[in-house]
Amino acid sequence: MIHPLTFPFKLKGNARLHAFPMVDQIDLFSASGVEANPAPTDFAPAKIPTSAKVPIPPGTYESLDPLAEHCKSCQRCGLAEERKNVVVSRGSRTAPSMVIGEGPGQQEDEQGRPFVGRSVQLLEKILQSVRLVTEKDVYICNIVKCRPPGNRNPTVAEINACRPYILEQIRLVNPKIILLTGATSVKGIIPSEKRGITKIRGNWIEWEGRLCMPILHPA
Ligand code: URA
Repeated sequence: MIHPLTFPFKLKGNARLHAFPMVDQIDLFSASGVEANPAPTDFAPAKIPTSAKVPIPPGTYESLDPLAEHCKSCQRCGLAEERKNVVVSRGSRTAPSMVIGEGPGQQEDEQGRPFVGRSVQLLEKILQSVRLVTEKDVYICNIVKCRPPGNRNPTVAEINACRPYILEQIRLVNPKIILLTGATSVKGIIPSEKRGITKIRGNWIEWEGRLCMPILHPA
């Protein structure tokens, strides 16, 4: 079987394929599909991890370190109650490619690192098929940073509470290509995408000046 990540890539809908059409830093928030989230006048960044009502305006974090610190103490949703570890990321912080999974499973929760459980071998195979070396060429993270109990899908409220973190991760890593593994990843990044994962998998979608490829979840 030809894996969806092997060539030829197909472009669907309004997606346009450019060699690498990206500018150095793009505005993720001015285009449709993602709510603008301007800083209120009484914005207190230190309160971000305390509640999903505290906004995380784009540009809040100067680097991935303070973002990870906030994630580690985060109580923005109920997933904080049962987690062992917050799972922020692994891989290269300057990678041109990013893998966004759905959320940590049991192994990830125990180790505090994304994609270390059963799915890692398949993910490695997928990346190797397009000659990507995980720790060098790819930044790996998830839509939600804490394990949903029993590995259930994260709820919309949990995705929304965590979404500003992933948007900041994307802004700071600035990948040209994003691999969205599973329907929850698509929902978390491109909420306006209403087609099912089986329809869109293996097709490039241009989103906010980046190329996203949805694939079936490698579990
Ligand atoms: N492990 C992760 O970190 N994310 C997934 O989506 C699946 C397994």
